[in-house]
Amino acid sequence: MLFAFGKLPIIDSLDLSDFPFKKVIFGITCANFLFERYVAYRQYKLLKSENKKVPKALEGHVDEEKFAKSDAYGLAKSKFEMVTSFTSLVVDLATLTMFSSIWNYSVSIGNCILSTIMRKPFVMSLNANNIAFFILSQTISTFLNLPVSYYQHFVLEEEFGFNKMTKSLFFMDSIKTLLLVNAIGSIPLYILGLVLKKCTENFVFYIWMFMIGLQITLFFLNDLVIQPLFYTFTPLNNKELEDKINALAKECGFPLSEIYMIDGSKRSSHSNAYFSGLPFMKKKIVIFDTLIKDSSIDEVVAVLGHEIGHWKMNHISQMLIISQVHLTTFLMLFDMVFKNAKMFADFNFIIDPLSKVPTASLPGSNYALVNDFPFLVGLLIFSQLVQPTNLLMNFGMNLFSRHNEYQADNYAAKLGKGEDLKKALIQLQITNLSTISVDKLFSMYHYSHPVLCERLEAIDIYTSEHEKKSG
Ligand SMILES: [Zn+2]
Repeated sequence: MLFAFGKLPIIDSLDLSDFPFKKVIFGITCANFLFERYVAYRQYKLLKSENKKVPKALEGHVDEEKFAKSDAYGLAKSKFEMVTSFTSLVVDLATLTMFSSIWNYSVSIGNCILSTIMRKPFVMSLNANNIAFFILSQTISTFLNLPVSYYQHFVLEEEFGFNKMTKSLFFMDSIKTLLLVNAIGSIPLYILGLVLKKCTENFVFYIWMFMIGLQITLFFLNDLVIQPLFYTFTPLNNKELEDKINALAKECGFPLSEIYMIDGSKRSSHSNAYFSGLPFMKKKIVIFDTLIKDSSIDEVVAVLGHEIGHWKMNHISQMLIISQVHLTTFLMLFDMVFKNAKMFADFNFIIDPLSKVPTASLPGSNYALVNDFPFLVGLLIFSQLVQPTNLLMNFGMNLFSRHNEYQADNYAAKLGKGEDLKKALIQLQITNLSTISVDKLFSMYHYSHPVLCERLEAIDIYTSEHEKKSG
């Protein structure tokens, strides 16, 4: 099996010592931006067009007023995105150009803080420099994003009645997120740096092993620490609903451990339900209080029937396998540029192995002088380079995910819950004000779920098929 983690032979013979990394990356970023704008424009044009009618499958469920409101929400989001996408393109390109400056500042700030704490001159290792760079760039991007995020919550979402957040909660959430990202991100990044330094041979395999360990750790952290920091989990206090969920779990052989309700309504009135738990372990079901408030008991049970369908058909494990293959391919490709001096030089990083300090002290300079390859910078530049493959991956994953949604709907229909699921889906669409009119390319690119009408029609077909079979 180990051979699979070796270098890709064809790619290994490529000579990239003259490759114009910066020009290609800027070109790719702009092309990506134009493509996304084209997709968004198609959707915008559709939402703007007049003479739209409530789709057949929704007649009797959604009136003209709700239909118009959902399209108005879609249109407002679309206009908002037009402005933010352009500003984020400018910020992205500016950040890329300033990587070396940010690096220099992060190193001097880091050295200064650590020297003060230790009460003696302190110089960070190159690996610690990576972490300082990570923390500073995360902090900058959080502050740059704050106005956009504020507008989104307190103007856009507020206008359509979704925002339930207070301003203090918003700022607390932003600070908590920043601290968590820095705390949780720094440790694995530091270990990753050590692995890369120690295991230059076969590093793809070692990093892959490390990433699996990391994913499992993050899963537990998310369940035990992160989610409870943002939401309050309370045991379900509805006996009838609890009994019906237990009966459903028993019928499907679902290893249910606990059922929780979370206060999703504290932040937003969007509804949801999900289950969590590693493969082969007991799982807990989490339901948003908004879903319980807006739907009947049978409808909530039907939604869970759909969720259990995902479990029954191993959709989560399949997604996990795909993401592992994706990760391995990404690492194999990264392997070929990781020590490419030209790539770093294009972004003003000069590698001088003879330098006595990991990073020369050059605050304010647009050139960073380092004594080895800074892997995090390399990883970030490389991620920009593979944007086209991510785009294709996005289409592929959405296609796969939509296939899975149909299968889970079919499973719920087989349990005899097709009609309730339809009602719940319509209710979810209304409360979430999901856009009803959706352009084909837009939904292929952005939607991991089929649009509502497609799902309702499919559930009708599944239900009649199951009825025929059971005679
Ligand atoms: Zn689903």
